Amino acid sequence: MTTSKIEWTGSTWNPITGCTKYSDGCQNCYAEKMAIRLKNMGLKKYSNAFKLTLHNNTIDIPLNIKKAQTIFVCSMSDIFHNDVPDNFILELFKVMNKAHWHTFQVLTKRAERISLLNGKINWTENIWLGTTVENNKATQRIKHLKDSGAFVKFLSLEPLLERINHLNLDGIDWVIVGGESGYKARPIQEDWVRDIRETCNKQKVPFFFKQWGGKNKKKAGRLLDGKTYNEMPLKDMVDNFV
Ligand code: SF4
Repeated sequence: MTTSKIEWTGSTWNPITGCTKYSDGCQNCYAEKMAIRLKNMGLKKYSNAFKLTLHNNTIDIPLNIKKAQTIFVCSMSDIFHNDVPDNFILELFKVMNKAHWHTFQVLTKRAERISLLNGKINWTENIWLGTTVENNKATQRIKHLKDSGAFVKFLSLEPLLERINHLNLDGIDWVIVGGESGYKARPIQEDWVRDIRETCNKQKVPFFFKQWGGKNKKKAGRLLDGKTYNEMPLKDMVDNFV
């Protein structure tokens, strides 16, 4: 497992690496660039670069880490990718059930598959499930998330590519927003983020603003109207991050 620089998590666990482009948010996929870089650096785990690869030898890692952590699952892939067999996915959820002292954050764009596997997953309280909503087209994923049995349900509106209309947050416990970063970053507009902040306020949903992004994301920072927004679904977790 690796300590993560992502503002809303603690570390990452990657029993699957590699993926294929799925929707508009994937255009400048960070995981793809990173996987190619790690292959070029000679890391054995990334010898397939961004080709979908299952790593059976890393399944048990969370069980061997005794200090409680918040863990982003499959930051270098999508756990619900069509080429990942059901059994492998269910095995990963069993590890999450067993490693009850950790909090697992599972984020997917392939939300339809949540509905297909929902009845087979034991949704213990330590598993948070989220889906990415980068534009209006992707809001259709939200219903699959809402219908799941996950204890904490969250949305990642990153990379936010347009204003999201009529965001209904009933049944949603947490919203993360962020702009795209990197050389080819597509620009975000402040008003899109303010709209989401307002919707969260109205519907009393914790709001986490991750970053503006852009070519120099450090310089662009993460202030919105002079404030940082680090709200989390469980309030005592805020201090663990950022
Ligand atoms: S789903 Fe995620 S990991 Fe897969 S290509 Fe899209 S952005 Fe990259």
